[in-house]
Amino acid sequence: MTDRAFNFNAGPGTLPVPALQQAARDILDYQGLGLGIMEMSHRSKEFMAIAEQTESLFRELLGIPNNYRILFLQGGASSQFFMVPMNLLAPGTTACYLNTGTWSAKAIKEARRFGTVDVPFSGEADNFRRLPEPTDYTVAHGCQYLYLVSNNTIFGTQFSSFPETDVMLVADMSSDILSRRIPVERFGLIFAGAQKNLGPAGVTIVIVRDDLLDRVADSVPTMLRYKTHADKQSMYNTPPCFAVYLVGEVLKWVKAQGGVEAIEQRNEEKARLIYEMIDSGDYYRGHAEPSSRSRMNVAFNLPTAELEAKFVAAAAKQKMIGLKGHRSVGGCRASIYNAFPVEGVRHLVAFMQRFERENP
Ligand code: PMP
Repeated sequence: MTDRAFNFNAGPGTLPVPALQQAARDILDYQGLGLGIMEMSHRSKEFMAIAEQTESLFRELLGIPNNYRILFLQGGASSQFFMVPMNLLAPGTTACYLNTGTWSAKAIKEARRFGTVDVPFSGEADNFRRLPEPTDYTVAHGCQYLYLVSNNTIFGTQFSSFPETDVMLVADMSSDILSRRIPVERFGLIFAGAQKNLGPAGVTIVIVRDDLLDRVADSVPTMLRYKTHADKQSMYNTPPCFAVYLVGEVLKWVKAQGGVEAIEQRNEEKARLIYEMIDSGDYYRGHAEPSSRSRMNVAFNLPTAELEAKFVAAAAKQKMIGLKGHRSVGGCRASIYNAFPVEGVRHLVAFMQRFERENP
């Protein structure tokens, strides 16, 4: 696999090579059955075993307690922006949302269709460089939940710890799920689109505490109720079979790496290497304030937009793909998800040093 580039894309992002190699074989013929993984019934014993194994491995790796259900849904993480309030926010009640970037703003917009939304913190005025400290806001009494985006993919910020509050937490962990250990029991619900750390686009994983499943109003359509999917082990309708399968292969890879703790250490090391480079001078400027920095997405600028364009183009020629920043921040962004190798980070840092020397 020497001809693979270093893929810094923010998502879909790079996936572990062993998982892709296994998938390449299983697409054509799964375990000698004479048919591929995308062609078998989701009710076959082979696929049921894959789904069960994927779920139990995910539970094991993240330490998810037994009173939480794990659902494999479709519609992308964006559908959770409305499914969360549709299922958890009864009319006339209030939820609290921390506005830390594009993805929380979209979730706030959807939640307002269902109940009252209190936004006690917004980072908008400083272009979402900073996440709130606990003293920056208060959660109104009686809120149904406190919603946050654990890692802000676009602005490169990440909560290093989660708010201490009596109110249950709900989190969008699309861009940092499985990248570090998390205290699942402090959350009522966690969701994540798969296409960064877990697998291909097409499946969204929802972890939901089982006592919340009955909150939903009768008027909510069958497919949009968490309970429907929980009651049927995510087999109420045809699940995104291939995506679930590939998530399973990625999870096997995570386990073989030493599990989430080992992955977390490696992620810290990768991020440290890039931030040290950024902090070594004033040519590169990180977008996020140091205390809010993400270990998954490093957003940074060069002295001018022209140099940024040149940097991205020159990096691509050296097999470093996907370094252009999101259009709302500009500049560059290095997404270094779980499957992104340390070697690729070293390659980038050496390139950054060279580029600075050659383009003063
Ligand atoms: N939340 C976060 C934190 C994201 O980064 C993204 C997209 N990359 C989304 C939600 C939306 O995901 P999807 O495209 O699966 O709807």
